[in-house]
Amino acid sequence: EPAYNYGEALQKSLLFYEAQIAGKKPDWSRVSWRGDAAMTDGADAGLDLTGGWFDAGDHVKFGLPMAFSTTMLAWGAVQNRAAYAASGQLTHLLNNLRVPNDYFIKAHPSATVLYGQVGNGDADHKWWGPAEVLPMARPAYKIDATCGGSDLAGETAAAMAASSMVFRPTDPAYADTLLTHAKQLYTFADTVRRAYSECITDAAAFYKSWSGYADELVWGAIWLYRATGDTSYLAKAEAGYDAQGNEPQSTTKSYKWTIAWDNKQFGNYVLLAQLTGKQKYLDDANRWLDWFTVGVNGDKVRTSPGGQVFVDSWGSLRYAANTAFAALVYSGVTTDQTRKARYHDFAVRQINYALGDNPRKASYVIGFGANPPKNPHHRTAHGSWWDSQQVPEQTRHTLYGALVGGPSAPDDKYADNRGDYVMNEVATDYNAGFTSALAALQGEFGGAPLANFPQAEKPDIAEMSVETTVMQNETRSTGIKAIVYNKSAFPARALTHARFRYYFTRDDDSALAVSSPYTQGCPGPTAARQASGSLWYVEVDCTGWTIAPAGQSAHRMEVQLKIGVVEGGRWDPSNDPSYQATAGPNATVPLYEGSTLVWGAEP
Ligand code: BGC
Ligand code: CA
Ligand code: CA
Repeated sequence: EPAYNYGEALQKSLLFYEAQIAGKKPDWSRVSWRGDAAMTDGADAGLDLTGGWFDAGDHVKFGLPMAFSTTMLAWGAVQNRAAYAASGQLTHLLNNLRVPNDYFIKAHPSATVLYGQVGNGDADHKWWGPAEVLPMARPAYKIDATCGGSDLAGETAAAMAASSMVFRPTDPAYADTLLTHAKQLYTFADTVRRAYSECITDAAAFYKSWSGYADELVWGAIWLYRATGDTSYLAKAEAGYDAQGNEPQSTTKSYKWTIAWDNKQFGNYVLLAQLTGKQKYLDDANRWLDWFTVGVNGDKVRTSPGGQVFVDSWGSLRYAANTAFAALVYSGVTTDQTRKARYHDFAVRQINYALGDNPRKASYVIGFGANPPKNPHHRTAHGSWWDSQQVPEQTRHTLYGALVGGPSAPDDKYADNRGDYVMNEVATDYNAGFTSALAALQGEFGGAPLANFPQAEKPDIAEMSVETTVMQNETRSTGIKAIVYNKSAFPARALTHARFRYYFTRDDDSALAVSSPYTQGCPGPTAARQASGSLWYVEVDCTGWTIAPAGQSAHRMEVQLKIGVVEGGRWDPSNDPSYQATAGPNATVPLYEGSTLVWGAEP
């Protein structure tokens, strides 16, 4: 009996990528609470750069981790396509893998130009709201022949080459397109020889190229070799190998770290061992994975009492998961039976830790297993209308399948705290090696994904509403404060043609007096209209004003009304359909977006 349902975990882990989609929502999306987002990306550069993935709990499209995540997912599919097919996940994998690849095609408009980021890190991070209503400018950043980025271009080449292998059996034309871009990008990478974060300087604060680009030049060449069979790429990979990082003051290849968005050399050990069988690569892979398991010369990775391997505090579980996936691949490469079992069992242990086999007996995957996290550091899943991590208290959406960062020290401790982006953020790169490892484990142990999953979510509260407060009750007039609220999140959407009506009955035929003592923005009315007979209404028309769940004042529109009759007339508010003595949501004040009723009812 396998410890966990790896089929269900794989299904959910893949679904996470659907929540991260930027641009037009694809018709195959299964995430009911997501909509179109960031639809003008690239406009500042005169290009369509919509699409791709939002990086994490934020909405920047960071090219290096996006490309790395793509390569890791594609690697998993190259390695375990049969498991994807047998578990019914192949279509979902292909759908989701197309998203970043379509974006990379757009981001690579000519041979030596690659857009490597859309959205400014600081501007994006200081706002806390849903993707569908982003209020900030989203600049596009590129590398080119004058200021290049061998790491970014090399990783994007790897991503597209690896993906071409995944698409080849079902869509050879698309595979060819990806390969054409991959080859050009690799040549570009190999020529410019520079770290991308020196050119896209905004990325330096978030995804600086710490390890440099030697690893991506090898990695890109390996994937091009695999995708084309052209041995000149294999020769390039081998020729570039020694330039990758060494342990300090030595010629021993680095082994006290792991494969992640910055440094892929550990993956290169595994892949070159697999492709060439040469002892040099086997030695480097063995040393690396020994350090993670039994130790090397008495030195071993820090490991929590509960068994989590730990290389860094920020997003610790993704390092464990990435290592686990590479270890699973390599356990199929090495012919050393002891190591084969050791690396395999290590990988299973790390993945099981994330799924719930840990001292907390809790899953680190949202919506999976026992006591999973509920409050990820994820703006769109939270669904704030107030630009605040505190409003509302409950997270509004279940971000199925997202692997959270996990413990920030090797102590098995964790807090499900939305504000803690070290332990509780989620990211496209966190899930990448994890998904690929789950595919391997599904292939080995089985496990059926859930049927009828996911179900569409239902709104937790009225997404749009009008609240009224009686401000004055005078003999011949009523003063009303009316506030339109947009707390939408299923998906979030702006009101741009909001209209609401306050209905009243005339009590005699004396002339009406209508005014608006205050308005937050959209014009206050000055006249009433007849509905039928003595039933009249005042309409407030906010066409051209945006009311969106994007902040404290942005999500609301207050308009005050004063409705009554002239001197000598009769005015009785108690029989008015929209009159509500107590302040609060008032369903007798219908709200429309254009001609669609979105709240309340007409009398
Ligand atoms: C953002 C996170 C980001 C972190 C570090 C926070 O303000 O909400 O998404 O990971 O900054 O850049
Ligand atoms: Ca690198
Ligand atoms: Ca009346």
